[in-house]
Amino acid sequence: MSGVCVRKVNNLADYLVHATTEDGNIRALAAVTTELVEEARSRHDTAPTATAALGRTLTAAALLGATLKGEQTVTLRLIGDGPIGGVITDADAEGRVRGYAKDPQADLPPNALGKLDVGGVVGHEGFVYVTRDMGFGQPYTGSAPLVSGEVAEDVANYLVTSEQVPSAVALGVLVERNGVVRSAGGYLLQLLPQTDDDQRAELEKNLAALGAVSSAVDAGLTPEDILGRALHGFPFRILGHKPLSFHCNCSRERVLGVVATLPRHEVAAMLEEDRGAELRCHFCNEVYQLTPADLEGILKAKDEPQA
Ligand code: ZN
Repeated sequence: MSGVCVRKVNNLADYLVHATTEDGNIRALAAVTTELVEEARSRHDTAPTATAALGRTLTAAALLGATLKGEQTVTLRLIGDGPIGGVITDADAEGRVRGYAKDPQADLPPNALGKLDVGGVVGHEGFVYVTRDMGFGQPYTGSAPLVSGEVAEDVANYLVTSEQVPSAVALGVLVERNGVVRSAGGYLLQLLPQTDDDQRAELEKNLAALGAVSSAVDAGLTPEDILGRALHGFPFRILGHKPLSFHCNCSRERVLGVVATLPRHEVAAMLEEDRGAELRCHFCNEVYQLTPADLEGILKAKDEPQA
């Protein structure tokens, strides 16, 4: 029974912490995402390297979405020339994160460091795209070339080159031998221009001492602990906490709505040739079965005169 208790203590629900140094020069975010990355793995049945690529990208989306409000969303996509084909994630203001890998079975042998070869599976040539939908007007998409496909460097480079915010990003996912996610998390530090060289050197020293973020989470460090180590020597205060979860907003109604936008002959073919339809949500892999009655209802609505 004690083993069960230990596991419970080490698997507190996922959340994110947002902090700033007292001088306002450094904005810091840290997140534990073990549960949501494991849910993504189990929903999409990802192979280990794809699990790490998807898990890191989901964690980055959660960090980028930390300050969203209301109906705002952020979408983070890594599209490279590796076998995974692309990783697509998004996050909303409620800390709900979802995503998928184009090829969830993409897997590679360990890299030269003996680690999951995320850079290889994502690819070294390609782009990172960040779309911010502020809930009004056109969503804004920025992009930057991939640096390594390892995700954290790519996102940091995007923030520096496209959004002009010097940033340090770390993302990590540890996968058990049986493929289950053991720990996942990450942090994002953003430096304002007035940060001086001494502060940067101090920060670099702290981050080197902190080590791999997946190991920190695996050792039981909370987001607060991670920030405490990253900002050691800098007086800081916590601005807020946000629970994080894997959540998709798809539903039967939405799927019916999408089918209703298809050309009439396509809907008719689903009805006449297949006697129904099976639609799968890319983001969460949920399957929706549409019955002949559902399709007949859509066709009937299409045939009604438009108001
Ligand atoms: Zn879905």
